[in-house]
Amino acid sequence: MKTLALFLSAVALPLAALPPPAQAEPATVFTGARLIDGSGRRPIERAVLVVRDGRIVAAGKIDPKPYVAKGAKTVDLAGKTVIPGLISDHSHVGVVKDGAMSPDNYTAENVGAALKQYEAYGVTAILSLGVNKDLIYSLRDEQRAGRGGGADVYAADHGIGTPRSAPPLPGGADQIDRPTTPEEARQMVRAAAGRKADIIKMWVDDVFGTLEKMKPEIQEAIIDEAHKNNLRVAAHIFYLEDAKRLLRAGLDVVAHSVRDQPVDAEFISLMKRGDTARVPAYIATLALDEAQFIYAEHPAWMDSAAFRTAAGQKMVDTWLGEEYINKIKANTLMPRNRAAMATAMRNVKTLHDAGVYVGFGTDSGAMPTRLPGWMEHRELQLLVAAGLTPMQALVCATRKAAEVIGDARNRGTLEIGKRADFVVLSANPLDDISNTLRLVAIYHGGKRIEPAFAAEPPPAPAAPSPTR
Ligand SMILES: [Zn+2]
Repeated sequence: MKTLALFLSAVALPLAALPPPAQAEPATVFTGARLIDGSGRRPIERAVLVVRDGRIVAAGKIDPKPYVAKGAKTVDLAGKTVIPGLISDHSHVGVVKDGAMSPDNYTAENVGAALKQYEAYGVTAILSLGVNKDLIYSLRDEQRAGRGGGADVYAADHGIGTPRSAPPLPGGADQIDRPTTPEEARQMVRAAAGRKADIIKMWVDDVFGTLEKMKPEIQEAIIDEAHKNNLRVAAHIFYLEDAKRLLRAGLDVVAHSVRDQPVDAEFISLMKRGDTARVPAYIATLALDEAQFIYAEHPAWMDSAAFRTAAGQKMVDTWLGEEYINKIKANTLMPRNRAAMATAMRNVKTLHDAGVYVGFGTDSGAMPTRLPGWMEHRELQLLVAAGLTPMQALVCATRKAAEVIGDARNRGTLEIGKRADFVVLSANPLDDISNTLRLVAIYHGGKRIEPAFAAEPPPAPAAPSPTR
């Protein structure tokens, strides 16, 4: 009797939970674009992309007529390029508001605004890698139920730091866990697992010797306990030796570049020890290293609509002002930050060439200088400046980033069955990676989203060569 009751409830519950049959929505057929599908395969010219119920039902060199005959709407994208929505494996939300940082900024309204900003720059999913309040889970649930907009959010719970120092962020006790013993760290990991965190985050850094670094036995306890709870672990690191120790202990995601020295053969072999091709993964966050000092130099791109829209006029004025420029000049850590960035640029190229799995992230949203949406495009430019091809950089920011986020089943490439998350560009990013900023439209789950700013028109076609 008891067995039967159990059997009945096991059957009845899922049936009761089934939604009403979905209205068969007519498909939308996107025609004529150059399709860069995120897999790394060569682009397909004049491709067709068919979307229904927010998913891709066909993509590539196919005949759109059968879909049109069944009532599909057609969108002409001739001359445009389509890439998958960008994915950041290292961002933050609810930390900054109006150019200032405070634990009070972690509100549904402010987190929602940041997610909308990412989306309007073509970043359709982000992993909020720590400094989250528990509010993130109800927002994530809302999104997964189809309510609430903006980039789809994945969360690393609070994140785990040290009692008085790293991370040097004004996170409340409900926002950053700061264990003093391995057992306390394990309890915190279990609590995060109970809240359904997507990944566990820890900070291992002393910021050039100015802060207390997490003890190795706590680092190891975090990784061990996370793995027991089927969770991967991402770590903020700066130094090669910390990264190696963490990798030996089983770390899954190196969440910043190694920046104190060139990576070596031992590090590469630790990065390639993985039981799958996807972990450990390495996230370079070059745009974060650059943002430490670059605004004081007023690069030309600070005058672009893309940058100014993300920053807001007040912050642009601040960064171009004498006070900020002098503060950066006087900061004794700045020469080390510049050297760190140069090292980071070399290391990501070395690692990518060696076949290490390179994901994509920026640390956008963690501080006022780290602009959601803008930084993801800047990171693509910096990866190319570091020596990756535009195609390699785009694959890091799409297919590989989706693997790191743990949801490659649904996103990262524009293939049958995946979410219809894509970006329409007026020029080819394989010609010039900064063309990712020439946004025409963003489609998120098949829904059209207007870009955050009026993008520059496509570059004029090359003048015909003079006849002789
Ligand atoms: Zn971060």
